[in-house]
Amino acid sequence: MNATMVIDELREWDIGPVIENEPLSRHTSFRIGGPATVYVQPHSETDLIRVLNWVEAQKIPYFILGQGTNVLVSDRGLDAVVISTSRALREIRLEGTRMTAGSGVLLTKLAHKAHQANLKGLEFAISIPGTLGGALVMNAGAHGSEMRHVVDSMLIWEPGTGLRMLDASEAGLIVKASLWNGIGLP
Ligand SMILES: Cc1cc2nc3c(=O)[nH]c(=O)nc-3n(C[C@H](O)[C@H](O)[C@H](O)COP(=O)(O)OP(=O)(O)OC[C@H]3O[C@@H](n4cnc5c(N)ncnc54)[C@H](O)[C@@H]3O)c2cc1C
Repeated sequence: MNATMVIDELREWDIGPVIENEPLSRHTSFRIGGPATVYVQPHSETDLIRVLNWVEAQKIPYFILGQGTNVLVSDRGLDAVVISTSRALREIRLEGTRMTAGSGVLLTKLAHKAHQANLKGLEFAISIPGTLGGALVMNAGAHGSEMRHVVDSMLIWEPGTGLRMLDASEAGLIVKASLWNGIGLP
């Protein structure tokens, strides 16, 4: 990967921090991992989509990082653009009994919000670390429940397609990439 070209281009866009050789040990819960050739933390959903579309079109390797609680990064690091969801996708919206949240939202925070709003269903998630996106990718669960029981639909970004809405029954597809994730609580 031509790091200089990537960094020059992304910095031009003014989308948030674009860091060369960022130690991933700073972004994983085990505090291990060598450097990402490029680490980017887009400020907004639009910026994040722009980065994804660009790296995809340029065939540049990339990796989406949530809170780093389920990744073990080699000491050699990752020769890729590591894209953090932690700034861009932090919104939680409540409409009636339905919550819509960005995949960068911490799952524990979402579970607390649901509790405060008297919504049932996410109690199992109250102590699972990581982001909503990470939990959806692995269908996190505990105490007899799991993400697929509470997810209604997801707005995802898919390589080659871009944004599209997924029904929960298609959830296997979210391993490719996810952006916004709708949670419907009974
Ligand atoms: C102490 C501890 C207790 C835990 N307890 C439980 C438990 O009780 N039940 C359970 O099911 N799990 C449990 N887990 C696992 C937990 O579910 C995962 O660590 C968490 O869901 C990962 O989220 P993350 O944001 O940290 O993802 P990361 O570690 O950052 O990433 C994990 C994977 O998800 C991908 N990813 C992350 N966000 C996105 C996104 N927005 N779009 C596309 N891909 C994405 C990454 O590319 C990577 O492949 C536990 C983990 C820990 C450390």
